[in-house]
Amino acid sequence: MGPGIKPEKAVQLKKYLKGAIFPGDINELSTKYSKESFDKNDCLSCGNCCKSSPPLMEEEDIQRIAKHLKISKKAFKRKYILEDINGDQSMINIPCVFLESDNTCSIYEIRPKACAGYPHLDEGNFFKLRGLHAKNVFSCPIAYEVVGRIHKLSQNQNP
Ligand code: SF4
Ligand code: SF4
Repeated sequence: MGPGIKPEKAVQLKKYLKGAIFPGDINELSTKYSKESFDKNDCLSCGNCCKSSPPLMEEEDIQRIAKHLKISKKAFKRKYILEDINGDQSMINIPCVFLESDNTCSIYEIRPKACAGYPHLDEGNFFKLRGLHAKNVFSCPIAYEVVGRIHKLSQNQNP
């Protein structure tokens, strides 16, 4: 559970995401609320995503980070990557091996694309990613806040 997240409220938000008919401007709303939430919340005092959600890794991520570490792609994969039955690759360690004790990322400038986009609320595909948001409301204070605001808005529009 991420800091400041109330479990009962997160369960309510998860249910809302499952059955909701979202407003037409959901992507604009989500992007706006996401930006406001990032401005307000300090990820360095949280770090929960790096501690609990191994990022998906694309080949370009692996290539870039392996090069930075001066090891081969093959060696990087052997050491850090788990491949599932669908061929999706993700980091193997939890917490992430690149997470420092002060919650900074030791490869921040070249971090995986999935990390740079997390929690994916400003990518114009809120509906498609609603299952992911339903998981993230339990762990990411930003996802919790953004979905909470959207939920509140929909309640006010449909009392
Ligand atoms: S690569 Fe960096 S941003 Fe991504 S999970 Fe690891 S520590 Fe966090
Ligand atoms: S993105 Fe969410 S879970 Fe990750 S550090 Fe920021 S607030 Fe915490």
